[in-house]
Formats: sequence, structure tokens, C-alpha cells
Amino acid sequence: MAVIVTDNCEGCRFTECVKVCPVACFHGDERMVYIDSDACIDCCACIPVCPVQAIYLENDLPPEKAEWIGINRERAAVLPLVTEGADPLPTAAAKRAALGF
Ligand code: SF4
Ligand code: SF4
Repeated sequence: MAVIVTDNCEGCRFTECVKVCPVACFHGDERMVYIDSDACIDCCACIPVCPVQAIYLENDLPPEKAEWIGINRERAAVLPLVTEGADPLPTAAAKRAALGF
């Protein structure tokens, strides 16, 4: 089982997920975060705290978001760890509103 960050995070990066994660498994670029499935302990603490419902257990992932399994694996492997919360991106409020949250 893996826990997956999807496209809703793009442009938001609220990092509420990072703040509750008990291990170091989030990696990030300038647009969003990704989960290292080898480090993740599948505790699911991050799923309900995301303001834009970007995070899914792999089994709950909608079919149209299946590509994000590979994207999380590939991006987490090459990007730096994100271990502390940070301010949301400047585009976060608009993206959240556009998503209807
Ligand atoms: S809380 Fe949601 S939007 Fe924020 S960084 Fe985590 S996955 Fe992205
Ligand atoms: S499921 Fe738990 S361990 Fe995995 S990324 Fe979310 S908070 Fe971290």
C-alpha cells in the first residue's frame, strides 16, 4: 500500500501534511510535495488534514489519477526532503477556490 499526493496539491503546497507526518517521507519542488512510499508508514495522518483533498491511499485513488503513483515515486527519489511546514504558495488561495474547497 502507498499513500499518494495528486494534482490538487499543485500550486497549493499548504504543507499541513508535512506538519502531521511522523516520519520524513515528503519531498518537494516549487509547485507541490510528493511521498516516498519506502519511508511512509501508511499511518494516513496526512490524508484528512489536506485542505484540498490531494492525498489518497493507493486503493482509494480515482482511476484518472493513477499516474500519480509513478510520479510520486519518481519525484520523491530526486527531490529534497520537506520536514517543516511553510507558508502556502501565492497561488494557493485561488487554486483552492477553483477546486471548490
Ligand atoms: S496539505 Fe495538501 S496541498 Fe498542502 S502540501 Fe500537503 S498535499 Fe499539498
Ligand atoms: S501516511 Fe503517514 S507516514 Fe505516510 S506520508 Fe502520510 S503522514 Fe506521513
